[in-house]
Amino acid sequence: MSTFQSSEERIRYAIMGGTFDPIHFGHLAAAETVREKLNCQKVIFIPSGNPPHKKGRVLTDSIHRYTMTVLAANSNPYFEVSNIEMNRNGYSYTLDTIKELNKYYGKKVELLFITGADALLEIETWHKVDELLRLCSFVAVTRPGYDKSKLEQKLLYLQSKYNVELHIVDVPGLNISSTDIRKRVREGASIRYLVSDAVEQYVFKYELYRE
Ligand code: ATP
Ligand code: MG
Repeated sequence: MSTFQSSEERIRYAIMGGTFDPIHFGHLAAAETVREKLNCQKVIFIPSGNPPHKKGRVLTDSIHRYTMTVLAANSNPYFEVSNIEMNRNGYSYTLDTIKELNKYYGKKVELLFITGADALLEIETWHKVDELLRLCSFVAVTRPGYDKSKLEQKLLYLQSKYNVELHIVDVPGLNISSTDIRKRVREGASIRYLVSDAVEQYVFKYELYRE
């Protein structure tokens, strides 16, 4: 019996994908809450390369987004940052990333992919969603401005449609978005207490988001 149990024991790593343009306390609080509530050994942040989902807007160079993510994650011993997507040319799909990570970590590791409410609500537009949902577990985190009951309904719908289990985690509501941070910088407003000090300094040093 014990052999059976130990072979079933898998450790959990949470993955948080995003454009992180720039990374802010909303991302960090969501990641830390999921790590703690779902007993993950670490959280791996994966800044995207050239995502298919960012309509129209030109993203800040991935080297800047990656570096800011490293700076923001640095103070948390459970946080790591991966460059797996940013070095890919052209479109980068979460499915490819998960396949690569599954191969790298093997069966002992269960990957949990964290998405904010907004991202989870539109997950059916993602590349090969049925395969993706089967390859890793999804965790939807609450986000201010997105109705929790709508999120719960979507979760139930996805669970029955794709026959998979999804988690929902309540995170302390931080009404912060990268869009708003970029706008503030453009308008000369403060971004203090929305991003870490190191990220704030980086944004000013490299004159990001000025136009
Ligand atoms: P943008 O405004 O440029 O879209 P964003 O703030 O939404 O930026 P993303 O990089 O798009 O940040 O998000 C990465 C992931 O983090 C997504 O799954 C998103 O839903 C989630 N997320 C972002 N901000 C928050 C927040 N304040 N609370 C909870 N989840 C969040
Ligand atoms: Mg977003």
